[in-house]
Amino acid sequence: MTAEIIDGKAFAATVRGQVAEHVAKLQAGHGITPGLAVVLVGEDPASQVYVRSKGKQTVEAGMASFEHKLDAATSESDLLALIERLNNDPQVHGILVQLPLPGHIDSDLVINSIDPAKDVDGFHISNVGLLGTGQKSMVPCTPLGCLMLLRDRHGSLSGMDAVVIGRSNIVGKPMAQLLLGDSCTVTIAHSRTRDLPAVTRRADIVVAAVGRPEMVTGDWIKPGATVIDVGINRIDAGEGKTRLVGDVHFDSAAAVAGAITPVPGGVGPMTIACLLANTVTACCRANGLPEPQGLTP
Ligand code: NAD
Repeated sequence: MTAEIIDGKAFAATVRGQVAEHVAKLQAGHGITPGLAVVLVGEDPASQVYVRSKGKQTVEAGMASFEHKLDAATSESDLLALIERLNNDPQVHGILVQLPLPGHIDSDLVINSIDPAKDVDGFHISNVGLLGTGQKSMVPCTPLGCLMLLRDRHGSLSGMDAVVIGRSNIVGKPMAQLLLGDSCTVTIAHSRTRDLPAVTRRADIVVAAVGRPEMVTGDWIKPGATVIDVGINRIDAGEGKTRLVGDVHFDSAAAVAGAITPVPGGVGPMTIACLLANTVTACCRANGLPEPQGLTP
């Protein structure tokens, strides 16, 4: 079997198009422009690339982008004061604090100081609790993107066996909650799971969010299963070059799976598209207006 390649890049472009359409309606009908504030503390090169990309795509979708770049030595209290200002700014509908934060800042404290209604990353404990109890919440962008890809391929996920590898608060746990919400039978596997290949071989859906290059190989996959590769790993490609690979060994897995996301071009582009979607959703909720269809779970 040769798997169908799930084109996350194309799907993300469709989502961004839907977002832009809704933004145009908000502006024409209500004079409202959704706004996203991104806060970056320090000079982490990868974070700088993400923040630039988020800002660019926010503007391309017709929304307002507010970037706050702070020195690595910024104090926790100054950062909390900025978040308080953004919480009270009516032009800001979404707030994202780029992680990781420098070691002297308590990330949990900072994330939990964001107004949950503006927490477009979905990391605030209120949103985590709302998602866990099946209530309307802000949903973390990467798992939301994975869910959209899975629904697009399968329609209903009801009754499917899903294995999520990784139990992080950012990807693994919310992914499992979303799959449970769609009535999958969910297993969360992690670094202490015994005989992981036997666990994944049972699955109709495998979501790999581990951070270990090409760990999941074709012999771990049930024939015909759908494989969602969240991993982004830069590895040595020889001659001083590097290349990006996922947590799944693409060629061997694609020979067995029914469908698979590539890296790059799979889950990655969905993350920012879902951030834009969450910002529009937050803006609609803040103004008591109908939310865009298909952009929330
Ligand atoms: P994390 O380090 O917080 O969590 C990794 C998880 O993998 C842990 O729960 C750990 O128990 C599990 N794990 C580690 N080694 C394992 C092993 N040998 N067997 C089974 N489980 C093991 O990472 P994260 O933030 O969840 O990110 C995971 C991957 O996804 C990384 O490669 C990251 O770069 C990528 N990522 C991609 C996006 C995107 O937009 N595509 C977004 C977030 C994270």
